[in-house]
Amino acid sequence: MTTSPSIVIIGTGFGGIGMALELTRAGIDDFILLERGGDVGGVWRENTYPGAECDVPSPLYSYSFEPNPSWSKRCAPQAEIQRYLRGLAGKYGLLGRIRFESEVTAAEFDDATGTWTVRLADGDVLRAGIVVSAVGQLSRPALPELPGLETFTGAAFHSAEWDHAVDLRGKKVAVIGTGASAVQFVPAIQPDVAALTVFQRSATWILPKPDTDYGPVRRALFERVPPVLLAERLAWWTLCETVSLSIVDIPAIRPIVSRISTRHLERQVADPVLRAKLTPDAPPGCKRGLFSNDYFPALARPNVHLETTGIAEITPTGVRTADGTLHEADVIIYGTGFKGTEFLWPMSVTGSGGRKLHDEWAGGARAFKGITVPGFPNLFLLYGPNTNLGAGSIVHIIESQTRYIRQAVELLRRCPGHVLDARPEVEAAYDAEIQGRLDRSVWNFCTSWYRNAAGRITNNWPGTVTGYRRVTRRLNLADYRLAPAARAESQE
Ligand code: NAP
Repeated sequence: MTTSPSIVIIGTGFGGIGMALELTRAGIDDFILLERGGDVGGVWRENTYPGAECDVPSPLYSYSFEPNPSWSKRCAPQAEIQRYLRGLAGKYGLLGRIRFESEVTAAEFDDATGTWTVRLADGDVLRAGIVVSAVGQLSRPALPELPGLETFTGAAFHSAEWDHAVDLRGKKVAVIGTGASAVQFVPAIQPDVAALTVFQRSATWILPKPDTDYGPVRRALFERVPPVLLAERLAWWTLCETVSLSIVDIPAIRPIVSRISTRHLERQVADPVLRAKLTPDAPPGCKRGLFSNDYFPALARPNVHLETTGIAEITPTGVRTADGTLHEADVIIYGTGFKGTEFLWPMSVTGSGGRKLHDEWAGGARAFKGITVPGFPNLFLLYGPNTNLGAGSIVHIIESQTRYIRQAVELLRRCPGHVLDARPEVEAAYDAEIQGRLDRSVWNFCTSWYRNAAGRITNNWPGTVTGYRRVTRRLNLADYRLAPAARAESQE
């Protein structure tokens, strides 16, 4: 079956839903959304591990034009965030425009017609004038490359693919990884399990989590006096913007962060050996900052052991560390993160003149303002290369991007038959500037999912969300070639 909407949006997480809301609010409705899963929500649909919730305050981690006075607490749980997105999809009439269980395998640009052919895993084909990818950076779980991984005979799963059928009560559980996901699910499962061994490869700075129950009085206030909720949003925005400055421009903020984190550790962990293991050696911000009030106390419980010796292999019965010790386990949980630097994988994206996106990105993903790639006309990326944040709400970044892309859509609607292609020299200058700033960032001091194998920082934006809003406020036509289809390749 072939259908031909004007705009295809791939993904229905915060990015895809945000794009659809922006278009709808602008009176544009000739779009459809493709979703590989059976519901909206993106990472907030997929990550159902115990304790899953946002560590960015929800009044900030929501669309500016759709404040939610009903958050049960400041750092809302996963199900509530997904409900928020599903509610908006219903409110704005998007549900009828979403094709669920529709995974995109390929997209090809046709120079002659200036249209994209979008192929789905079930064999269906769509043709569209504009494609917006909103597949996110954290949608593909990464398992560690450890010898013997497949030989383990107990239950094993990744945190983003939590197997709720596995009863952890009374079990010996091994957790590999200590990132943002693990610090949430470790305290949630610790009381149930017989024994928990947490394998930490490197320590990360953990800050007190600024969570609080909102309660009925505060919720009523948010509902009846909207400026109160706005003030809450502004307060967190200001704090995040300040912390963002520590990443490149004001390194003097870093010791303040590490001091707060060290005090938090000292208050919560009495054992000097455990404290030493939990003290990071890279500066704060190098790996994503973590927030938790119950992770350190969970690690200090008698049924928990924090193992910092490197893992040599997985055996049929557990995890063997480099010192030869076998840590027996009934269940292994991989909190080992995502293939964050493999943007748009495993989709095959072919642009103008047959160029392949993943060939263009052999040295690392890059895009003009994180949104457009030269040679891939009328293709727009949400949460693309170098738009992730060290501190702050990614929803703010996504809103900047959807506004920018909406301007491109309006321009293309005014010029039927035309395609918009980022100028290579403009993208090159932009990339050089961003990478120059990134060279001075704290992210160079350790390895993380922000950098690819060659060490290039492909994921993160080196500034504040205000800086990104400024950069994306207006689509400047001089940055692009706007040309009739078939001439996109040649026109200067
Ligand atoms: P992550 O931050 O990438 O952490 C992965 C963990 O696995 C790290 O501790 C890493 O160690 C460890 N690891 C990876 N390979 C390993 C190996 N071969 N052997 C031993 N350890 C290994 O993943 P995540 O915790 O799933 O979080 C990913 C991102 O999702 C976060 O940074 C955040 O952006 C987002 N997230 C957000 C929230 C939220 O509340 N907003 C919650 C969860 C996740 P090293 O540190 O040594 O590399």
